[in-house]
Amino acid sequence: MIIDAHSHLAANPEDLEKIVNSKIIEQVWLMDTHYYRDGRMASEKEILKVSKKYPGFFIPFGFLDFRKKSEIVDKLFEKGFIGLKAIRPAKPYDDPSYFSYYERAEKLNMPILFHTQIIAHATQKEIEKGLSLGPTNMRPSMLQTIAAAFPSLTIIGGHPGFPWQEETLSSIWYYSNIYHDLSGGDYPLFPEWLLKVLNYRDYKGKPLTEKILFATDRLYGRKENHDNIFEEINFWQQLFKRVSPFFYWKGDEEKIMYSNAKGIMERIKK
Ligand SMILES: [Zn+2]
Repeated sequence: MIIDAHSHLAANPEDLEKIVNSKIIEQVWLMDTHYYRDGRMASEKEILKVSKKYPGFFIPFGFLDFRKKSEIVDKLFEKGFIGLKAIRPAKPYDDPSYFSYYERAEKLNMPILFHTQIIAHATQKEIEKGLSLGPTNMRPSMLQTIAAAFPSLTIIGGHPGFPWQEETLSSIWYYSNIYHDLSGGDYPLFPEWLLKVLNYRDYKGKPLTEKILFATDRLYGRKENHDNIFEEINFWQQLFKRVSPFFYWKGDEEKIMYSNAKGIMERIKK
């Protein structure tokens, strides 16, 4: 079984039974990014509805909207969101004015998945006002300040953080509460970077295969996307099976595909 630790839900989702009953996927973490104006993404309500309909299968992450006051964190928790998704902040993630949001999330034991990396093209017309268009407020090293200030907060960097992948490596190497997901690899350095990083240990000697989470970043709830999701899962399973015997971490692919994410969920339930 696998866990998809970063994905999205389409508006008016369909064909979800196929995913839920696949016996391949055990859990899907759904990130709310409803700030797109084209109506493509599910609303907050739709995400919560689907998560209630399939409890323990779809795990809802609410949109951490920095344009709102930090009480938004408590409100999202009360609504039923398990985690938070941060993306397109107007200021850098590690700006001290954002600390009150992180403090609340840490108290409520809500993990935060922060988008890092190059980001989907969007003009100001296409997204709501007060959000950033480019990626420079979302550099991977900004998560290090947050990890230092809030050591009990579970921090997940969305994607490998291109073009700042060295920052990503230093984050997962040095901070026990920072993970990264492997989605969004449409970048020239991706395969080479990932296989290199997986072969290292963190500064305490823990294998970095314990800091990477499998994720698709795909849009669930569209029939035409679902086959691609299974194809992608199969691709990663085959790739790891082929290459891992040549690395010291042989067999650790199960951690990436499943148990690292499972461990995070088990810890936050406590
Ligand atoms: Zn995403």
